Amino acid sequence: MMGRTHLALGAVAGVHLAAAAPGLGLPVAAAALLGSILPDLDTPYSKLGRRLWPLSRLVYWSFGHRGGTHSAVFLVFAAALLAVASPPVGIALGAGIATHLAADAVSYGYGQRFTFRGAGVPLFWPLSERKAGFRLLKVNGLAENLVVLPWALLWAGQAGWRLI
Ligand SMILES: [Zn+2]
Repeated sequence: MMGRTHLALGAVAGVHLAAAAPGLGLPVAAAALLGSILPDLDTPYSKLGRRLWPLSRLVYWSFGHRGGTHSAVFLVFAAALLAVASPPVGIALGAGIATHLAADAVSYGYGQRFTFRGAGVPLFWPLSERKAGFRLLKVNGLAENLVVLPWALLWAGQAGWRLI
Protein backbone atom coordinates (compact mmCIF):
# COMPACT_ATOMS: atom_id res chain seq x y z
CA MET A 1 0.00 0.00 0.00
CA MET A 2 0.99 3.64 -0.23
CA GLY A 3 2.74 5.37 2.67
CA ARG A 4 -0.32 7.51 3.40
CA THR A 5 -2.52 4.44 3.81
CA HIS A 6 0.08 2.75 6.00
CA LEU A 7 0.23 5.89 8.18
CA ALA A 8 -3.57 6.02 8.45
CA LEU A 9 -3.69 2.37 9.54
CA GLY A 10 -0.83 3.05 11.97
CA ALA A 11 -2.83 5.97 13.35
CA VAL A 12 -5.78 3.63 14.04
CA ALA A 13 -3.47 1.37 16.07
CA GLY A 14 -1.75 4.38 17.64
CA VAL A 15 -4.86 6.10 19.02
CA HIS A 16 -6.24 2.85 20.44
CA LEU A 17 -2.93 1.96 22.12
CA ALA A 18 -2.48 5.55 23.34
CA ALA A 19 -5.86 5.27 25.07
CA ALA A 20 -4.59 2.13 26.84
CA ALA A 21 -1.32 3.75 27.96
CA PRO A 22 -2.13 6.82 30.05
CA GLY A 23 0.81 9.17 30.43
CA LEU A 24 2.59 7.64 27.43
CA GLY A 25 0.00 8.53 24.81
CA LEU A 26 2.25 10.64 22.59
CA PRO A 27 5.30 8.33 22.40
CA VAL A 28 3.02 5.30 21.99
CA ALA A 29 1.09 6.92 19.13
CA ALA A 30 4.34 8.12 17.53
CA ALA A 31 5.87 4.63 17.74
CA ALA A 32 2.80 3.08 16.08
CA LEU A 33 3.01 5.66 13.27
CA LEU A 34 6.73 5.02 12.80
CA GLY A 35 6.15 1.26 12.83
CA SER A 36 3.48 1.58 10.17
CA ILE A 37 6.03 2.84 7.61
CA LEU A 38 9.26 1.32 8.99
CA PRO A 39 9.22 -1.89 6.86
CA ASP A 40 9.33 0.23 3.68
CA LEU A 41 12.78 1.41 4.68
CA ASP A 42 13.66 -1.33 2.20
CA THR A 43 12.86 0.88 -0.80
CA PRO A 44 14.33 4.31 -1.63
CA TYR A 45 10.91 5.21 -3.13
CA SER A 46 8.99 5.12 0.17
CA LYS A 47 8.25 8.05 2.48
CA LEU A 48 10.89 6.97 4.98
CA GLY A 49 13.26 5.63 2.31
CA ARG A 50 13.36 8.97 0.45
CA ARG A 51 14.41 10.77 3.63
CA LEU A 52 16.96 8.14 4.68
CA TRP A 53 18.06 7.17 1.17
CA PRO A 54 21.64 6.02 1.91
CA LEU A 55 20.19 3.58 4.45
CA SER A 56 17.20 2.58 2.33
CA ARG A 57 19.47 1.86 -0.67
CA LEU A 58 21.63 -0.35 1.52
CA VAL A 59 18.60 -2.23 2.87
CA TYR A 60 17.18 -2.53 -0.68
CA TRP A 61 20.45 -3.97 -2.03
CA SER A 62 20.62 -6.40 0.89
CA PHE A 63 17.04 -7.67 1.04
CA GLY A 64 15.04 -6.22 -1.86
CA HIS A 65 11.60 -4.60 -1.45
CA ARG A 66 9.17 -6.64 0.65
CA GLY A 67 12.04 -8.78 1.92
CA GLY A 68 13.36 -9.23 5.44
CA THR A 69 11.87 -5.99 6.80
CA HIS A 70 8.42 -7.41 5.99
CA SER A 71 8.80 -10.45 8.27
CA ALA A 72 7.77 -11.54 11.76
CA VAL A 73 11.45 -11.66 12.77
CA PHE A 74 11.85 -7.96 11.90
CA LEU A 75 8.66 -7.07 13.80
CA VAL A 76 9.77 -8.89 16.96
CA PHE A 77 13.37 -7.65 16.73
CA ALA A 78 12.43 -3.97 16.24
CA ALA A 79 9.71 -4.09 18.93
CA ALA A 80 12.01 -5.85 21.43
CA LEU A 81 14.80 -3.34 20.79
CA LEU A 82 12.52 -0.43 21.68
CA ALA A 83 10.81 -2.35 24.50
CA VAL A 84 14.13 -2.38 26.36
CA ALA A 85 13.70 1.39 26.77
CA SER A 86 9.90 1.32 27.21
CA PRO A 87 7.72 -1.80 26.90
CA PRO A 88 4.50 0.08 25.90
CA VAL A 89 6.38 2.04 23.22
CA GLY A 90 8.02 -1.15 21.94
CA ILE A 91 4.64 -2.88 21.75
CA ALA A 92 3.22 0.11 19.86
CA LEU A 93 6.08 -0.03 17.33
CA GLY A 94 5.37 -3.75 16.87
CA ALA A 95 1.66 -3.05 16.40
CA GLY A 96 2.45 -0.42 13.78
CA ILE A 97 4.68 -2.87 11.90
CA ALA A 98 1.91 -5.48 12.16
CA THR A 99 -0.54 -3.11 10.41
CA HIS A 100 2.04 -2.65 7.64
CA LEU A 101 2.56 -6.39 7.16
CA ALA A 102 -1.18 -7.06 7.16
CA ALA A 103 -1.84 -4.32 4.59
CA ASP A 104 0.99 -5.48 2.32
CA ALA A 105 -0.14 -9.11 2.65
CA VAL A 106 -3.35 -8.25 0.79
CA SER A 107 -1.99 -5.69 -1.69
CA TYR A 108 -0.10 -6.09 -4.93
CA GLY A 109 1.60 -3.89 -7.47
CA TYR A 110 3.80 -3.80 -10.55
CA GLY A 111 6.74 -1.80 -11.76
CA GLN A 112 10.18 -0.90 -10.51
CA ARG A 113 9.02 -0.48 -6.92
CA PHE A 114 8.19 -4.15 -6.74
CA THR A 115 10.76 -6.85 -7.09
CA PHE A 116 8.09 -9.49 -7.29
CA ARG A 117 4.77 -9.59 -9.09
CA GLY A 118 1.88 -10.20 -6.75
CA ALA A 119 0.79 -9.79 -3.16
CA GLY A 120 2.14 -10.95 0.13
CA VAL A 121 4.98 -10.59 2.58
CA PRO A 122 7.71 -13.13 3.51
CA LEU A 123 6.33 -13.59 7.03
CA PHE A 124 8.62 -16.47 7.93
CA TRP A 125 11.82 -14.97 6.48
CA PRO A 126 14.68 -16.03 6.78
CA LEU A 127 13.35 -19.60 7.16
CA SER A 128 11.28 -19.23 4.02
CA GLU A 129 11.10 -16.64 1.22
CA ARG A 130 7.53 -17.74 0.50
CA LYS A 131 5.07 -14.83 0.47
CA ALA A 132 2.09 -15.00 2.81
CA GLY A 133 -1.03 -13.20 1.61
CA PHE A 134 -3.35 -12.89 -1.34
CA ARG A 135 -4.21 -10.44 -4.11
CA LEU A 136 -7.05 -8.30 -2.80
CA LEU A 137 -6.13 -4.64 -3.40
CA LYS A 138 -3.99 -2.99 -6.03
CA VAL A 139 -1.40 -0.61 -4.56
CA ASN A 140 -2.57 2.98 -5.18
CA GLY A 141 -5.75 1.59 -6.75
CA LEU A 142 -9.32 2.83 -6.35
CA ALA A 143 -10.13 0.51 -3.43
CA GLU A 144 -7.08 1.65 -1.50
CA ASN A 145 -7.62 5.35 -2.13
CA LEU A 146 -11.42 5.52 -1.98
CA VAL A 147 -12.22 2.86 0.63
CA VAL A 148 -9.29 1.82 2.85
CA LEU A 149 -7.65 5.24 3.26
CA PRO A 150 -10.80 7.26 4.10
CA TRP A 151 -12.11 4.46 6.32
CA ALA A 152 -8.85 4.33 8.33
CA LEU A 153 -8.69 8.13 8.59
CA LEU A 154 -12.27 8.33 9.86
CA TRP A 155 -11.66 5.50 12.33
CA ALA A 156 -8.44 7.06 13.65
CA GLY A 157 -10.05 10.51 13.78
CA GLN A 158 -13.10 9.28 15.64
CA ALA A 159 -11.06 7.23 18.14
CA GLY A 160 -8.56 10.08 18.51
CA TRP A 161 -11.33 12.60 19.12
CA ARG A 162 -12.47 10.57 22.13
CA LEU A 163 -8.95 10.82 23.57
CA ILE A 164 -9.02 14.61 23.69
ZN1 LIG B 1 5.74 -2.47 2.59
